[in-house]
Amino acid sequence: MDKKHLNDCFAHDGAMLTHDQALGKLTMGLTPINETCNIALDDAVGEVLATPVTAPRNIPAHTNSAVDGYGFSFANYDIQVGSLLPVTGMMAAGSALEGTAERACAIRIFTGAPVPESYETVVMQEDVELVLTSQGEQVKIPAGLKCGANVRLAGEDVREGATVLAPNRRLSPQDLAAIASSGADSIECYRPLKVAIFSTGDEVIRPGTPFEHGKVYDSNAAMLRGLVAKTGASCDDLGVLPDDAALIEAALSKAAQTHDILLTSGGVSVGELDFVLEALNKLGSVHLWKIAIKPGRPMSFGQIGNCLMLGLPGNPVAAFLCFLLYGQPVLTVLSGQNWHPPLRYKVRSGFSMNKKPGRREFLRGVLEHQEGGEMLVNKYARDGSGLISSLTEADGFIELGEDVVDVKQGELVDFIPFGSFGL
Ligand code: AMP
Ligand code: MG
Repeated sequence: MDKKHLNDCFAHDGAMLTHDQALGKLTMGLTPINETCNIALDDAVGEVLATPVTAPRNIPAHTNSAVDGYGFSFANYDIQVGSLLPVTGMMAAGSALEGTAERACAIRIFTGAPVPESYETVVMQEDVELVLTSQGEQVKIPAGLKCGANVRLAGEDVREGATVLAPNRRLSPQDLAAIASSGADSIECYRPLKVAIFSTGDEVIRPGTPFEHGKVYDSNAAMLRGLVAKTGASCDDLGVLPDDAALIEAALSKAAQTHDILLTSGGVSVGELDFVLEALNKLGSVHLWKIAIKPGRPMSFGQIGNCLMLGLPGNPVAAFLCFLLYGQPVLTVLSGQNWHPPLRYKVRSGFSMNKKPGRREFLRGVLEHQEGGEMLVNKYARDGSGLISSLTEADGFIELGEDVVDVKQGELVDFIPFGSFGL
């Protein structure tokens, strides 16, 4: 990496940012990685396309039949009463014309076979009658067909030279179909991001180890590994760091050499034992952001050399939300993808509550199907950003904007289903 990812607009005077301001700074101020590699089409699902794919020829290349039927020329067709035409040839997909395709006649034609120059219209085989006469086989074409019916024009999917697929998108199976249609069997993609995650805290132990009094199993690492994997990045889980300034500093410094971004959880509040920020400050630059959201912990964001770092809160609910709100856009932009805000839906509220103005609140929302098909969203029964069960039971986040001062049962609220984050 020879480019600095972060530009100066991340520097911040410490004033409270709104959610939109924070997101704007994150997504506008980042430069994508600039390393690309050639990826075989077969391996390309989930990769991020770096250069446009263009059509070297029309797609489809030939004007061809959309159905199994009979090809003929509209000039020899009576739209009022239909026509009886001799069948003089046959065209199968992928084969040359057998017989002839004279203008005054018709040919048997199959789906995908190029339509001979003398014709431009095809009638479906289900709609014709075949008549055997002394001159051979004739086809009785019904009245009312349109000129060009049942024919796919050359280039109607993509014109020669036009863009088949624009870059900066994560490739879906259907994208691969489009690339294949151009004939390319490999494409230029951004190399996958290398992400490292750390949990922090003397009380945090790994699942699978014996429980000890006063400890808590590391939930964040498993969750963050999964969240990172969903973005297409590779993820190294570098374990739990104790609350020890020197050890944290050494671990972050080492990981920063070989990763594009470090994600830590815990140790970023103002508690005496929160050493992550201290370490980041020593090693590089910290931009500690106070964002007017709830659950709202200061999100720390910074850089060690060319490696970005995102310091997520320790509480699993806050870590989850902060990753989705800020980590996901950062990884998306850094990986070379265009970032789009998650889709929000208006859903009727099943609850009433008062809210402080001036900050954006994200409540865990549980959907309830009403009789008659309408959907309600309820607030998860308990608050508490350590309640991991709230995440497994919720269907998404209810988002209450800065201006909202109360919610009344029955009114429409913004709901972001977890599916909008690709979960
Ligand atoms: P901290 O931000 O380090 O003060 O942590 C806030 C709360 O989150 C504390 O109750 C921690 O025990 C808890 N916590 C921190 N890291 C994790 C983790 N990896 N898994 C589960 N809980 C955690
Ligand atoms: Mg801690």
